[in-house]
Amino acid sequence: MSDSLLSVRDVRVSFEIGGLLSQALGRPTEIDGVAGVSFDIAKGETFALVGESGSGKTTLARAINGLLRCAEGEIIFDGKKLNGLSTRAMKPVRRQMAMMFQDPVGSLSPRLTVGQLIAEPFRIHEMTDRDLGAETKRLLALVGLSADFADRYPHQLSGGQARRVGVARAIALDPALIVADEPTAGLDVSVQGEILNLLNDLRDRLGLSLLIITHNLHVVRQVADRMAVMYLGRFVELGGSEAIFTAPRHPYTKALLSANPEPDPDRIIDRIALPAEVPSLLARPPGCEFHTRCPWAEARCRTEVPLPAPDDPHRTACHFPLSPGARPPRREETTDA
Ligand code: SF4
Repeated sequence: MSDSLLSVRDVRVSFEIGGLLSQALGRPTEIDGVAGVSFDIAKGETFALVGESGSGKTTLARAINGLLRCAEGEIIFDGKKLNGLSTRAMKPVRRQMAMMFQDPVGSLSPRLTVGQLIAEPFRIHEMTDRDLGAETKRLLALVGLSADFADRYPHQLSGGQARRVGVARAIALDPALIVADEPTAGLDVSVQGEILNLLNDLRDRLGLSLLIITHNLHVVRQVADRMAVMYLGRFVELGGSEAIFTAPRHPYTKALLSANPEPDPDRIIDRIALPAEVPSLLARPPGCEFHTRCPWAEARCRTEVPLPAPDDPHRTACHFPLSPGARPPRREETTDA
């Protein structure tokens, strides 16, 4: 992608599991939280990472931001390779790549006023020659809060106001990319919409790119140009959001969408119930790792890993990609499930 701002290539992030298991095995045990994912984000684009909790999306976001080390692969941001950069070398990169963490109130220090919280990024990056009062006022206005909010403390804010302060901190240093982890978590539905509209508006006004991590599919449909669906640390489907919402090709995506239907009284939704048991990262199933839960699984799925075509703009890791409107086969119709 020629106008790519962020390029992630075959990234693997692993963790060592200590304790009784490694003692029993007599060696350190490693699991891959992210197991070889690749994607690009273009300038001005909103990209969403979607999946159940534990699917690896937050781990991937933290690796992109340099908070976790990649065991393999490359992360290139604005033409610069980030792997292996020291904390010191990452500091100027973090000006360009802001992170919004979950928990709007909890992520703000309770002892600082909103004005001090918004000025904090300037202090951390030693940009104190700026008129911090004027910057705070400007940023509060950009996120739709009046100047008198500067004197309030986090416990005096609603969830939506706290999230707006988080957005103001994220855009303070004029970043090229904002990584937002569950930007609407804990907010009422009406406030969720306001925050998403704010992010969209700022993206357009400031020319930002957004990487949104969420399990909330309505969020994705409202803001993301493209999306990737993660399962056990891998991408199972990646493509344009509208194409995926309209005609998901991977059975896991189809099941996620069926569990979160758009409110539409004229549509009958076939809910696809998956077995609750998600396999352990310590014992990944052979073949397609989703075959233990997939209603469409056949014999081939148990032994052969499905490999998506890397250049396909709508890529799917499935031997039998679904057609629009596909319904799960009845048990007696399956050949080997
Ligand atoms: Fe299901 Fe087989 Fe596709 Fe895996 S490869 S998602 S088991 S149909």
